[in-house]
Amino acid sequence: MNLLDLDFDELALTLDLSPSYRVKQLYSGLQAGLKIQEISALPLALRQELGEKYTVGVEIIEKLVSVDGSMKLLYRLDDGNIIEGVFMPHDYGSTLCVSTQVGCRMGCAFCASGIGGLVRNLTSGEMLGQVLSVNRLKGGPLERNITNLVLMGSGEPLDNYDNVVKFLRLVSSEDGINISRRNISLSTCGLTDRIRQLADDGLGVTLSISLHATTDEIRRQLMPIANKYSISEVVDAAKYYFNKTGRRIIYEYSMIKGKNIDYFDVKRLKEITKGYPSHINLIMLNPVKEKHLEGCTKSEAERFLGRLHAEKISATIRKSFGSDIMGACGQLRRSYLDSKKE
Ligand code: SF4
Repeated sequence: MNLLDLDFDELALTLDLSPSYRVKQLYSGLQAGLKIQEISALPLALRQELGEKYTVGVEIIEKLVSVDGSMKLLYRLDDGNIIEGVFMPHDYGSTLCVSTQVGCRMGCAFCASGIGGLVRNLTSGEMLGQVLSVNRLKGGPLERNITNLVLMGSGEPLDNYDNVVKFLRLVSSEDGINISRRNISLSTCGLTDRIRQLADDGLGVTLSISLHATTDEIRRQLMPIANKYSISEVVDAAKYYFNKTGRRIIYEYSMIKGKNIDYFDVKRLKEITKGYPSHINLIMLNPVKEKHLEGCTKSEAERFLGRLHAEKISATIRKSFGSDIMGACGQLRRSYLDSKKE
C-alpha cells in the first residue's frame, strides 16, 4: 500500500499509531518527500516495520537537464511501470507537469503517450509522489520548490476522475504541501460530462482544453474523442465551467501545417471564444516520429498569432521547454521502453 494515497485522517485511522503524535511525524516526513526509512523523528524499529508493509509509490530513475533549465524525469512505480514528467522553471516559480495515467486511451494523433493505449490509472498517491520527489530533488526535503502544477503529462485526467480529484485535494491541503488550486491547471481533451462534474465539485482549478482544430472534421482526424463530442458541445461545457467557477478557459492549439492555421480558422476561433473569458495557447508542434504531422514554421506561427490579435482574440505562443531532451509528451518514456526491448 502507498501511504501517499492517504490524507492525514485516513493515515491516523489506518495505522492507529501510539503515541498519536507519531502520525503527525510520519505525515510531515512523507510530505517533505522523505522515504519511510529516512524519517528520523520516528524510532528505528517503527520505520523498519512501516517500511516492510508500506511504500511511497514513486521513484525518480532518470533525469535529463536541458540547457534552458527544464528537466525531463522518468519515474518508476511500485509495479515497475514507467511514467514521465517535466519540470519547468519560470520567473514566478516552478511548474511540474504531472502524469495521471500510465499510457492513455485517447489516441490523439500528435501525442506519443497514447501509443500503446492505456496501461492503468495512477492513484492519487502516485500523482502526489511525483510532486514530492521533484521537490526533494530540487531543494532538499524541506524546500517547496514547485509552485505550479499542470496535469498535462501522460493520461487524460478526467478519464481517471476520482483519483485526480483526490490528488487535487491532497496536494492543496493546508496540512500538506498546500499548492494553491489557482496555480493548478488541468488539461483535458474535452470529456464534456466530466468537465461539468468538475465545475460542480467546485475545485476551482484552471481548465485547459485541447482544441487543436476549428472544425469537427479536422478535429476528428487529430483526436478520436471528437467522434464522441463535437466542438460546440465542448465549448458549451467550457462556458458551463466558466459560469460555475469564474475561471478563464484556456484552449490548447497545436499549429499543424495544412490543417488548422488558415484565415478561416481565425474566424472560427473568434466564434468559439466569443462571450466569455478565454485564452488560446498556441503550440509549436514537436514532431513525434511514429506520426506523420508537420508543424508550422516560426514565421507562419507568428502570422497566425498576428491574425488572432487583429481579431482581438487573446492568444500567445507557448514557450517550449526541453526540445533538446525529448520535451514532447510521452517521448522520453517511449524511448526508454524501446531501449529495454532492444
Ligand atoms: S494528448 Fe493527452 S489525451 Fe491525447 S493521447 Fe496524449 S495524453 Fe492522451
